[in-house]
Amino acid sequence: MAESKKYQPDQYGYYGEYGGRYAPEVLIPALEELEECFESAKKDPEFIKELKEAQKNYIGRPTPLCYLENLSDKLGGAKIYLKNEGLAHTGAHKINHCVGQILLAKRMGKKRIVAETGAGQHGLATSSVCARYGMDCHVYMGARDADRQRPNVFWMETLGAEVIPVHHGGKRLKDAVNAALKDWITNVRDSHYLLGSCLGPHPFPEINRYFQKVVGEEIKSQLVEQQRTLPDYVIACVGGGSNAIGAFNEFLEEESVQLIGVEAGGQGPEVGQHAARFQGGRVGVVEGYKSYWLQDEHGQVQDTVSISAGLDYAGIGPLHAFLHDQGRVKYTSATDKEVLEAVKTLAENEGILSALESAHGLVEAIRLAPTLSKDKTIVVNLSGRGEKDLFIFGRHLSSSSFREFIERYAEEFKESDN
Ligand SMILES: *Cc1c(COP(=O)(O)O)cnc(C)c1O
Repeated sequence: MAESKKYQPDQYGYYGEYGGRYAPEVLIPALEELEECFESAKKDPEFIKELKEAQKNYIGRPTPLCYLENLSDKLGGAKIYLKNEGLAHTGAHKINHCVGQILLAKRMGKKRIVAETGAGQHGLATSSVCARYGMDCHVYMGARDADRQRPNVFWMETLGAEVIPVHHGGKRLKDAVNAALKDWITNVRDSHYLLGSCLGPHPFPEINRYFQKVVGEEIKSQLVEQQRTLPDYVIACVGGGSNAIGAFNEFLEEESVQLIGVEAGGQGPEVGQHAARFQGGRVGVVEGYKSYWLQDEHGQVQDTVSISAGLDYAGIGPLHAFLHDQGRVKYTSATDKEVLEAVKTLAENEGILSALESAHGLVEAIRLAPTLSKDKTIVVNLSGRGEKDLFIFGRHLSSSSFREFIERYAEEFKESDN
């Protein structure tokens, strides 16, 4: 589709008033180098060829678009389709921009990758592409997060990354961001900062949009092939915003397609109990860009609550802030409780395990479908698969026998160590 200027940033990286490049002076040359590299890569047939090859043979694209016949019949309204990014390599959509950025890093002659990770999913995808493309990988992680997400730390190390726990501040994601930025400033000549969503200083939001937009392009062509129509609704969960931008981008200028982003409603509507930036967030500049942020009364970034690690973030990508104010995308939220219910519903009716993040989108589809007629079509972007959430499901959904298993396993583990 020919791209009009409507939802593109200006030359300084602003979408309306949001976005921009609020970075320390020492990083400006690196951001400019990255922007130039990105602009030239998009026009280079060799680069596009290498990207397409990796999308097909490493990531496993195209991912399927699957009609959920059982669930749609049961709800008795619109047809629901699932775009299954959970079947992409490493189990989620994050691999799309990780592969893209690693190819840009290679093109710039960088040998070293710096990243931060909260729950570890971005660190895992980053570690994977670093192993494949022969880059030295350094992942910063808040010490508290590293403790909570031990399995992901284990896999990152197995993939050859150095995982550096950060012991300052609250020992969480924002402390890891600061530590990773400090590393990048120190090593900026040979390092690329591999940023994990459609956010950060310009040009990162555009770079990640470019590598994620394949998701929406596939949705369009697959739906046309399967039922000869465009969707009436496209729904996606929104943390930083990359899987949602990926799913929405192709349809931004198709006014008949309604777009819905679903934020983390957490434990409830009070500030401090959720991560829904459009419910109580205020405009601010943090982490290099201007957007909506959940802040306390002193303007400090608010701690957030969500059952899903990937949506547990106080800021939101600047294009989402713009799309929100323009009214082009509607934003709703789903609570932890609704999300657990939706995971079960999808599993039982369709045999598909959803990530907790993606299930926020499912909640909205399950609310919406019965209110629509049978000739309407909803596409939900399933950003990731559910296996990674085993321990959270295990605790919430079951069962004393799962607990007993964990305890027995821990005992056996201890014994085998001696
Ligand atoms: C990280 C993650 C998200 C949130 O990131 P976005 O940039 O908002 O897409 C959503 N789903 C899954 C499965 C994730 O791992």
